[in-house]
Amino acid sequence: MRLLHGRPLAERLNARSQERSDALQGRGIHPTLAAISVGVDPAANTYLQRLARGGKSLGIVVREVSLTRDSTEAAVIAELERASRDPATHGVLLLTPLPGKLDEGYLVDHIAPSKDVEGVHPHNVGLLFDGRPRFIPSTAEAIVELLKFHEIPLSGADVVVVGRSTVVGRPAAALLLNEDATVTVAHKRTSDVAALTRRAAVIVVAVGRAGFLTGDMIAPGATVIDAGINMTPGGLAGDVDADSVGSVAGALSPVPGGVGTVTTALLLRNVLTAAETQTARG
Ligand code: NAP
Repeated sequence: MRLLHGRPLAERLNARSQERSDALQGRGIHPTLAAISVGVDPAANTYLQRLARGGKSLGIVVREVSLTRDSTEAAVIAELERASRDPATHGVLLLTPLPGKLDEGYLVDHIAPSKDVEGVHPHNVGLLFDGRPRFIPSTAEAIVELLKFHEIPLSGADVVVVGRSTVVGRPAAALLLNEDATVTVAHKRTSDVAALTRRAAVIVVAVGRAGFLTGDMIAPGATVIDAGINMTPGGLAGDVDADSVGSVAGALSPVPGGVGTVTTALLLRNVLTAAETQTARG
């Protein structure tokens, strides 16, 4: 069984990003991401720290705009719009999860589509589903880039995506469709997930439950991408039961060291793309 490591891909992406960042700096442009947080959340904070660390090494400024937990929707929108108008800010993202009373779907509508580096504005969602993606949610893109980097055939392949969230399952399914895979999306109401996954050449799991996919649910030799990040008493775990799946699969992305390793590199690459596009001459 082959492990589909993310690090070599992340290193390749970052090397190219470094060149692009250097070229921007040479023109006096400092690529900048505004990360807007509402209240304090440990998961959002971990993500922000990863972005800040990655950004620092690439010369990308990651500027946190912290709003208090009791902020109104109008206050969050005002910050999203301010960052969207600011010519020195090239990318804007809203850290999640948000305090319960705030509607994420409504708020992201107020990020300028040209600065929406997380690919969550309906304009960018539409472009992705239309087969001409601009900004793509980075976890979904990481899933597909990892498959392509490791040369897993996708054209015509039967692929099952388990999970249909806006940031992972749905965009991953759209991207895989753009790669000419035959895509089935499973979710909680799916009557028999295992019957679908057993027929698939490639399985993407993004459900948020440690050990969800087990070896008896897949065909021998199948490729399995584990997008899960779960904190368990035993430490960080994916959505795949790596022991049983590893003994049946042909290839498996590890957790940690797989999808998650690539997502930051892709998000930061989007900031560079945004900066280049917004500052293009003539
Ligand atoms: P989410 O919004 O909670 O969505 C989970 C999806 O899984 C839903 O569509 C849900 O179906 C489906 N699901 C849950 N239990 C199921 C079951 N028993 N059978 C079939 N489908 C089931 O989670 P998410 O944001 O997509 O995250 C998924 C996983 O990816 C989590 O472990 C998360 O930590 C991880 N993640 C990783 C990264 C990364 O960088 N690697 C980034 C974001 C998230 P319904 O729609 O029917 O409810």
